[in-house]
Order: sequence, then structure tokens, then C-alpha cells
Amino acid sequence: MTGDDFLLTDWGLYVHIPFCQARCTYCDFNTVTHMGVEDHQRYMDALILEWERATLPTGRLISVFFGGGTPSLVDPILIGQFIAAVRARVTDFDARVEVTLEANPGTVTRETFRTLRRVGINRLSIGAQAMQESHLKALNRIHGVPDIHRAVTDARAAGFENVSLDAIYGLPSQSFAEWQETLTELLDLNPDHLSLYRLQVEEGTPLADGVRRGTLVMPDDDRMADMADFAAVTLEASGLEHYEIANWARKGFASQHNQLYWTLNSYLGLGAGAHSYHEGRRWWNYRGVRRYVESQHSGDSARDDDEVLSPMEQMREYMWLGLRRQRGVSRERFQNKFEENLDQIFAETIGELTQLGLVESYDGILRLTSRGSDLANTVFRQFMA
Ligand code: SF4
Repeated sequence: MTGDDFLLTDWGLYVHIPFCQARCTYCDFNTVTHMGVEDHQRYMDALILEWERATLPTGRLISVFFGGGTPSLVDPILIGQFIAAVRARVTDFDARVEVTLEANPGTVTRETFRTLRRVGINRLSIGAQAMQESHLKALNRIHGVPDIHRAVTDARAAGFENVSLDAIYGLPSQSFAEWQETLTELLDLNPDHLSLYRLQVEEGTPLADGVRRGTLVMPDDDRMADMADFAAVTLEASGLEHYEIANWARKGFASQHNQLYWTLNSYLGLGAGAHSYHEGRRWWNYRGVRRYVESQHSGDSARDDDEVLSPMEQMREYMWLGLRRQRGVSRERFQNKFEENLDQIFAETIGELTQLGLVESYDGILRLTSRGSDLANTVFRQFMA
């Protein structure tokens, strides 16, 4: 199945697991360290309670995604109990549902993977990030390069046929040669899917602190652009399809879950700080783990706040999210989703961007040109305005 084979009513489930063994220097995600097995159990129970009380969208559930945090830190049996609770409410749940779990190579054994496979996980997203010990250490990752190799080998041995790897470029003092080495080694592992992210310096992180004090030096924009270009050329040559700005996949292995976000389909987010979206309404849970857990065990709502998007806001969001995808935005799908004509709603913006050579129309779709891909944020801002 590919993205536009989705029905408009297909939806996804995101499950936030906020536990990490240590905090990476660049990370500003909603995570906590040093929580024990009992905390994990209580949190996973809270997730099941939230799931059992949730109002589910009508339509097909096509993806469940355990993200974090470090979901692989939690006992796979607890993950299995949650999946069983999902199956109990979703009667048409079958092997076609993509069930992904994010795994940190420093937290897994072959046995972990075997159990995860047995309880219903069918896709792994393994955070490799870099293939040099010096960079992994500097980022405060809890794993080394051999752990990455071992994790992939163990995942395959445990029967996983859909394995994604994540890497980050633009690390402090990272040379172009190191990035080449990282990509080459990742490709040698034969991933079915690759996500490559440019390192973002987030306020309040040790990384931001180091950059401000001058102890960490980020590669300049030219080197970042060279790294991105090298990745695009190398991965395409290796037979992976560049289906979204930061994502590549073998044919048939594009991530279903992320595509639901980019097509503005409904998703239900469970857990501390998780966001949900359904028919123009977005809501999110308390970020605090203890507060979230207490709310569920005492039968209260975990909802922190919500917002309603106007039809115009929804259409704008649909455009800039959809243009992230190589296949662009289908005019027909836009019409079906909003009962509006894309070219009438965005006539001026599309006209200007076409003249600038940043977007093009092709076979009923609007998509970024290759120049538009290089200047994607400029294009997206035009639709956000
Ligand atoms: S493992 Fe992931 S979620 Fe946890 S601190 Fe590192 S980057 Fe953040």
C-alpha cells in the first residue's frame, strides 16, 4: 500500500513511551530518565486505561506506532499487553496493520526482538544516528557502533522483514568524510527504510549550551547542503526511493504511519504529551509523566488542551504537509477531502511558486521541483502564511 491508497477515513495510533536510559545532548523530547520497572508497569497500565476509554475514529486502523522516548526499554511483554488491548477493540485488526516500535541499539537483545515480533510488532525503527564512536559519545548515545550492527543482525534473525534506520547529519565538527562513512555503513546493513535528519539545535539542551559557549562548532550551511545532496544521490543510486524530504524506502516499505500525518488523516495519540488529530480538531495530553499516570488511574481525562482549525487552516496544513512527499498533493484527493478546488483556493500562491520554479503540476498533482526541494521551507511558509 502507498500513501494515496489510504482512504480518507484511515487512521493511526501513536503511543508515547517517555522512558530513556540517559538523555542525548540534542534532545528536547518529552522523556524521563531513571524510572524503574514498576513505573513502566504503571505507565503501560495507564496507556491501556486511556485506550479503553478513548473514542475511536470510524474507519480502518492502519498503523500503530510506539515512539518515544525509548520504547525498547520497556518489557516487550508489556508492549504485547497493550497490543492485545488494541486487538480487543479493533475487530478488523490483522497482519496488514503496520505496528512499529522505536528501538535503541543499546537496549535490545535477540531475545527482546523475538518477543517483540511474537507479540505483534512487525516494523522496527532503529536509532543508529552515527557510525563513529566519537560522535555517539559526544551525543551521549548509550550505544556504540557494534551495537548498531548487532541490533540489525538480531532483528533479522528474530524475523523482522521491515527494518528502518535513523541517522543524523550536521553533527558538531562532523566532516563530510564521516557522513559518507555513516551512510555507506548504514547501506551495508541493507535497511528497508532510512530516515535522515539534520541536527536541530533546540533551546535548553546541552547541545545549544555548547554551541552558545563556542565549545561545539556546527558545520556551516554549505557543508550541510553538501551532506544532504550526497545522501540524496547515494541513496537513490542504491535503489531506495526518496519518498519524503527526510525519508527513503525500498519499494513498498514507505512508513504508513508518517504518511498518515502528511495526508492529515486522523490519529489518536496516547500517553504523556501525546497529540491527537481528528476532523480539524487537535488535542494533547499533559506532558508530565506522573500527572498523566495519575489522571488515568483515577479515571480523569489526560487532556491538557485542544484547538480547532478552521477549514482554511486545515487546507493550508494539508498543503505544506503534503508537499513534503515526493508524490506531492493530488488535486482529486484535495477535492474529495475538502470539497474545494485546490487551484482556486491557492491560485495566487501556486502561480507565484510555479513562476519561481519551486512547484510543478504533473498528472493531476502538485509537487516540489528539485529546486523547490532545496528551498522547501520557503515553499511551506507560503502555505502557512
Ligand atoms: S534516546 Fe531518543 S528520546 Fe531518548 S534522549 Fe536520546 S534522542 Fe531523546
